[in-house]
Amino acid sequence: MIKSKIIYSNNIEECLSEWLGQYKKDKIFISTDSNVDKLWVSQLDDLFSSQQIKKIILPPGESNKNLDSVAGIWKFLSENGAGRKSLLINIGGGVLTDLAGFAASTFKRGIDFINIPTTLLSQVDASIGGKTGINFNGLKNEIGTFNEPVAVIINSNFLKTLDTENFISGFAEMIKHGLIKSKEHLSELEKFNFNNIDYLLLQKIIANSIEIKKFFVTNDPTEKNIRKALNFGHTAGHAIESLAMKQKRPVLHGYAIAWGMIIELFLSMKRCGLNESVVNKLNDWLTGIYGTFGIQNSDFEELFELMSHDKKNEAGQINFTLISETGYFEINKNCNKNLIFEGLDYFRKIQKKV
Ligand code: NAD
Repeated sequence: MIKSKIIYSNNIEECLSEWLGQYKKDKIFISTDSNVDKLWVSQLDDLFSSQQIKKIILPPGESNKNLDSVAGIWKFLSENGAGRKSLLINIGGGVLTDLAGFAASTFKRGIDFINIPTTLLSQVDASIGGKTGINFNGLKNEIGTFNEPVAVIINSNFLKTLDTENFISGFAEMIKHGLIKSKEHLSELEKFNFNNIDYLLLQKIIANSIEIKKFFVTNDPTEKNIRKALNFGHTAGHAIESLAMKQKRPVLHGYAIAWGMIIELFLSMKRCGLNESVVNKLNDWLTGIYGTFGIQNSDFEELFELMSHDKKNEAGQINFTLISETGYFEINKNCNKNLIFEGLDYFRKIQKKV
């Protein structure tokens, strides 16, 4: 069972007040980043100060998902007398919930924390499932824990201030959930109107997506088996993300995953018999939303090398999660170098059409 209580609420103040009541005998703390503080959290300052709740504001961005930020939270908790029964409430995107979740998981061997995710990516993915962590020694998510928050509070209204690129980036993880587990979810995403967002409907779609993530986390909390399905699009996607970073044209995570899914849909056709017309239709839809990322034949070797460092590989083989039809995943599908190069060439040619 997933430990976290997942609460859908359009009234964060009311919802928080209930939780504050539960922890009122102990000290409660807030962590957020400076963007989210300005837009959202500062509006709750009166509530927090009336209950002597202290807040730490961290700098935003992936480059701050590091040990210095974690040490800053540890110091803040320690200097303000946090004890083992204290509560840390993390309000922000995936960077904040990952790093503050890690700080809470390690402070005094672990204190309770609540996530209030404010980006689409953190609502449907990062804040659910108990992976916390920071980047270290130049490597992404190198240090971390599996430790679930006591609660996750979801409010789609936060997304009203999110920029389009970050919104679309989070949307990729929902598409992934549909592709691996649910035709119904995929079809509600295909109908989604980005130009006139219905936030109430979005809250329901987010809930459907979270249910899919919960299914995998519940059945395989530490990713020994079927949780690997959530890596669909990520083997090729992470390689593109790293290449983009090296070539100094960084891209948002979800975009790289969408392009990774294009490559892995091709591999799914070759290795799992996914229907070619389904692959073409899905890839047209994905490139319609995400455009493409220019790669050359000369990048293939490096992309292959990056894929070969993927955490999911076993016995020197590059393992993918692929799909045999929409909603049906297959894990541990190894692909050889020739096939991976074919997939990369398929993706390279798409850029000419977009
Ligand atoms: P992010 O946390 O950097 O947020 C993106 C930007 O949006 C930031 O500038 C942030 O300040 C701003 N922002 C946040 N909420 C906002 C709002 N409501 N309105 C306006 N601006 C807002 O990025 P992200 O995409 O949320 O998360 C990416 C991170 O999530 C990565 O570090 C990734 O490794 C991690 N992640 C973790 C897991 C996991 O299972 N733990 C899963 C997927 C991704």
